[in-house]
Amino acid sequence: SAKRLAGQVALITGASSGIGLGVALAMGAAGASVVVNYRSDAAAAQQVVEQIRRGGSQAVAIEADVSKEDEVQAMFRQAKEHFGTVHILVSNSGIQQDAPLIDMTLEQWQQVIDVNLTGQFLCAREAAREFIRRGIEPRLSKAAGKIICMSSVHETIPWAGHANYAASKGGLMLLMKSMAQELAHYKIRVNSIAPGAIKTPINQEAWETPEAADRLLKLIPYGRIGETEDIGKVAVWLASDEADYVHGTTLYVDGGMTLYPGFIGNG
Ligand code: NAD
Repeated sequence: SAKRLAGQVALITGASSGIGLGVALAMGAAGASVVVNYRSDAAAAQQVVEQIRRGGSQAVAIEADVSKEDEVQAMFRQAKEHFGTVHILVSNSGIQQDAPLIDMTLEQWQQVIDVNLTGQFLCAREAAREFIRRGIEPRLSKAAGKIICMSSVHETIPWAGHANYAASKGGLMLLMKSMAQELAHYKIRVNSIAPGAIKTPINQEAWETPEAADRLLKLIPYGRIGETEDIGKVAVWLASDEADYVHGTTLYVDGGMTLYPGFIGNG
């Protein structure tokens, strides 16, 4: 049904742009009350809030740097003050700091690990604490809570020039699976979405010119670059009871990018 997340509260990190924005809108359209986390762009976050409200769902913007323990804890406190609890975490915030390995600074390495991996740990830990405190609300969902980590095809595809990013997503893969193994008996479902190439600010140079888009399309057997709505729809399904038996897995949403497209027509 259209409002399959009615009554549930979804907290989306990095929701003022890109995939997080798309997921926030999709969750709102599915009837969830949405916490729109942002790091610095309050105006953009507020626009997302207004758009969700116009669609008939509740929303609030909350600032926090997901790599900072005190800020993540304050964000969850504020979310609970506002909506009473949280049922769905979509841990989406992520950054790139690209450099050839031999030129990569410790700061570039550390920033990416702090946001993409430590941020995932901090947000998942607070969410799990709240899910366990509250328990299952059978009227709303079969699970006590759902954690969705925004990973990447680079949790499996190595990426020259982006070793910090690939390491953060590869680490996230086993963080997600370990959390899924550990939290299952609380009826907390934990999964990842691994997007391929989705049109957002993070990879603008990879799709903004026709030449760049052509190069990118060679990596996508299905023949189109992804849209944030492609991820939003999957996130809503994964958070819903329709996916109640999906646990501890990565759902690739990549138009076939992980199918070794270099082998097409190659012998
Ligand atoms: P984006 O840059 O639009 O989104 C990233 C968001 O994270 C931004 O809103 C940013 O403000 C937020 N953020 C950054 N640092 C933060 C911090 N310290 N605390 C809180 N928020 C912070 O790019 P996107 O493509 O929408 O990326 C979203 C997620 O999707 C990332 O985890 C990225 O790795 C992943 N991803 C994207 C693609 C793609 O093709 N766009 C592919 C695979 C995975």
